[in-house]
Amino acid sequence: MGLDKRNLYRFPWSLNDNPIAWLEVTDICNIHCEGCYRQYMTGHKTLEQVKEEVLLFKRWRNPDNVSIAGGEPLIYPHIVDLVAFIAENGIKPIILTNGVALKPELLRELKQAGLAGFTMHVDSHQNRPGWQGKSEAEHNELRQHYADMIHEVGGLYVVFNSTVYPSTFHEIPDVLRWGQANIDRVHGLVFITYRTTTTSDHVALAGGEREVDLGKLSYVREDFSEKFITSPDVYDLLRQTCPEYDAAGYLGGTIQHDSFKWLAGAVIGSKQEIYGAIGKKTMEVAQAGHHFVRGTYLAYLSEAKIGRKVFLMSPWDKTVRGAAGRWLREVARHPGRLFQPIYVQSVGIIQAPDLLPDGRVDMCDSCPDITIYDGKFINSCRMDEYRLYGGFLTVTEREAERGGSN
Ligand code: SF4
Repeated sequence: MGLDKRNLYRFPWSLNDNPIAWLEVTDICNIHCEGCYRQYMTGHKTLEQVKEEVLLFKRWRNPDNVSIAGGEPLIYPHIVDLVAFIAENGIKPIILTNGVALKPELLRELKQAGLAGFTMHVDSHQNRPGWQGKSEAEHNELRQHYADMIHEVGGLYVVFNSTVYPSTFHEIPDVLRWGQANIDRVHGLVFITYRTTTTSDHVALAGGEREVDLGKLSYVREDFSEKFITSPDVYDLLRQTCPEYDAAGYLGGTIQHDSFKWLAGAVIGSKQEIYGAIGKKTMEVAQAGHHFVRGTYLAYLSEAKIGRKVFLMSPWDKTVRGAAGRWLREVARHPGRLFQPIYVQSVGIIQAPDLLPDGRVDMCDSCPDITIYDGKFINSCRMDEYRLYGGFLTVTEREAERGGSN
C-alpha cells in the first residue's frame, strides 16, 4: 500500500515546541563527507557561547534533547563540560558524530557527564581514510565496531544515520538487515536522501537582486545529472526488504502538500525475528503522553527495553496488534521465545530540501534541526547561506533566467 498521510500521525512539533535543539559547536571536521552542508569558516565556538545557545534553546524551543553537532563535535575541546551543562539543565545531550575520534575512555567520560546517546553518521561517501571505495555492506563492519563499543559501556542510546545517494540507494537493504540483526544494541536507523544544487544549471541571487557565486557553498556541485531519491522511494525499498516495517508518523513539506520530509516508524522484534511495527496510534500516545508527563515532545527513546509493554497498545493500534499476533504464534511454535527480550527499533527517512523550478525551496515543515545563527533560529541545512551571504539565496534554473531560450 502506498503512503497516505491519513494513515500517519503528523508530528505535533513546531518552532517553539520541538523535541530537538540542533547545537553546532564547531565547523571543523576530521573527514570530508560528500553530502555535508557545513564548511570551515570560523572554527570552535567558545564554551560560553554554546552555553548561551543552550539556554536560548531551553527558553524558546522547549527541547527534550540537544543534538550536539558540527563539524565534528568530538573534536570540540569542551565537549565533556558541555554535555554536563546540558544534562544539568534537565535536557538529554545527544552527540552526532562520525565516530572517528570516539574512544572507550572518552565514551566513559561522556557517559559520566550525563550523555544520553549518540547519532552515528556512517556511510560510504564520507571519504574516511582506509574506507574509500567500500560498499555500504562493508561499512557495516565499522557500524558494528561503534555499536559494540557503545553497547559495552551500556545505558546509552545509539542510532545510525546514513546519507542515501542515487548510487547507494540499492544498498539500503544491507544497512537495514545489519541494523535488525543488532536490534539489541542499535536503537534506530535513519536514511537521509542526498540533495545538491548545481552551478551549471542554476543562478543565485542574494537579497533578491545581487548575483552571487553559488559555487562557494560546500553543498553545491558543478554538475549532477542523477535523479534524486525521495522518501517514498526509500520507504518502498525498506518495505520490500522488511514487509513488517511500516511508517507511523510524518512531517510534510513547507510548500508541497504531498511531500514526506520526515517519515518515522519503529519495528518490534527480537534477535531472531521482526514481528511487526508500531502504528500511528502508538506514535500519538508516545508524543502526547510524553508531553503530558514530561512537558516535551519526544525524538529519542532513552536506552530502555520497552519490550512487550508495546503490545499493551494492541486494542487501539491494529499495526501493533498484528505484531503481537505474530509474536504469539511464534511463542506457540517455540515456547522458549516467551522469555526472550523484545525490542523496539526506530526507522526513519529524511528527504532533504527540494529546490523547485520557480526558485522556492520545499523544506521540512516544523524543521526539527533548526540551529542558532546570530541569535536567530535558522534551518541548519542552509545556514551557510546566512554565513556567506547574510540570508537565504534565491536560486533559479539558468533556463528560467534566460526566459527559456537557448
Ligand atoms: S529543513 Fe531542517 S530538518 Fe529538513 S533537512 Fe533542513 S535542517 Fe534538516
